[in-house]
Amino acid sequence: MKRVPVVELSDCILCEMCTDICPKVFTMNENGYVQVEPLDTYPRGEVDEVIKNCPVDCIQWEEQP
Ligand code: SF4
Repeated sequence: MKRVPVVELSDCILCEMCTDICPKVFTMNENGYVQVEPLDTYPRGEVDEVIKNCPVDCIQWEEQP
């Protein structure tokens, strides 16, 4: 099982906090939406910080096979 951060795009207000704080994980794609980069492992502390600070609480960890 792998822990991956997932963004609920329908709630995201594109404040860009996540892409500013943790740009190796969260980027803006060409359509103007936040995207989670495909990484083997995610920096837990940094992602937890972003999750805590997202103003609309739309990022969460998901377990993936
Ligand atoms: S911090 Fe939350 S609301 Fe802001 S851009 Fe990232 S996912 Fe969207």
